[in-house]
Amino acid sequence: MLKRNPCIANIKAGYLFPEIAKRRREYAASHPDAKIISLGVGNTTEPILPHINAGLVEGARRLGTVEGYSGYQDEGIAALREKISSVFYGGKFSINEIFISDGAKCDIGRLQLLFGAGTKVAVQDPSYPVYVDGSVLTGAAGGWEGVGYAGIAYLPCTAENNYFPNLDLIPQNSLIYFCSPNNPTGAAADRSQLTALVKTALNKSSLIVFDAAYSEFVRDPAVPKSIYEIEDTRLCAIEVNSFSKPAGFTGVRLGWSVVPKELKYSGGESVNADWSRIASTIFNGASNIAQAGGLAALDEEGLKEIRALTDFYLGNAKLIRDALQKKGITCIGGYNSPYIWAHFPGRDSWEVFSEILEKCQVITTPGVGFGPAGQSFIRFSAFGHRADIEEACKRLSVF
Ligand code: PLP
Repeated sequence: MLKRNPCIANIKAGYLFPEIAKRRREYAASHPDAKIISLGVGNTTEPILPHINAGLVEGARRLGTVEGYSGYQDEGIAALREKISSVFYGGKFSINEIFISDGAKCDIGRLQLLFGAGTKVAVQDPSYPVYVDGSVLTGAAGGWEGVGYAGIAYLPCTAENNYFPNLDLIPQNSLIYFCSPNNPTGAAADRSQLTALVKTALNKSSLIVFDAAYSEFVRDPAVPKSIYEIEDTRLCAIEVNSFSKPAGFTGVRLGWSVVPKELKYSGGESVNADWSRIASTIFNGASNIAQAGGLAALDEEGLKEIRALTDFYLGNAKLIRDALQKKGITCIGGYNSPYIWAHFPGRDSWEVFSEILEKCQVITTPGVGFGPAGQSFIRFSAFGHRADIEEACKRLSVF
């Protein structure tokens, strides 16, 4: 039989959500009458709004007509790429720099192929698990026979540094994953912080993968929605983004990446050309139905719906934050982000998770599952129906 890819054995962090699901099942089995509410996952809950949904329906209808039929479109429908450039980037990218995908997570996984085994990686700690797990899976962090995490620099984001890392910890020539507004902390980096990040990347011959999956939750004008709002970024950054959270496309699957033409490897080769090659080699493009929905999401009516949906989740976030703060619990996030990051000093995240489950029948996410600096924190997610959020908040008041 074939030998197992050793990189798979190196993945340690992927247990988080299965472990939460297991604990939920066990609790439900021993408390059959409990009405458990989940504030644990980042999955969307509200229906797709009517105009955007009509775009999806129309996309499917057109596939049944001779004139509307379309097949493979590796890098995405040109009209959608143009629209993304104009809506999100003031038209400063050509359509050849914008690649439509089946989601930001999938792009993050595939992007690692550009750099391969042995690449040094730097991540915010805590961080969205795919940056670490995906790096380990491609052998980026430690080599094929390596030790998994040896090549990963964790950049602690704590109350002491206001959840923005010490950039001196970033190694020379590294792939830096940076997410703002951040999952899980909800922290959103301001212009001067992102300017410092870009400067550091340029000085250290490093490349930033900027995850902007929550950019549509930003309400504060001091918080950039894209890394490309910062000067000189075309030389050192790729951005990934997604329709999942702002348009409710978590199940529809649609995202994009921006890879500027100016971006070069150390040998001078074009990163953009290689990304285009990967799109046609191991990925055959996003669903054309999803792309029709994406186009509807980015016209005037669709953008109003995105605003309404993100406002709704931010409304949930405010309820959760207020409920926690009333209890005297210190938390951040929830302003430009659907996540609230609550601090329980001196306590173990899993122990607090269990206590909240026992006392409130509310599922949360233990912060330590996102990295060592997440210990003593709990992530509350604002993705939920309003009635469930209100009930959860009521229960949290007795916690
Ligand atoms: N990036 C971050 C930071 C996320 O939190 C998530 C989902 O929770 C994703 C990307 C995944 O996005 P997509 O659904 O487009 O794969």
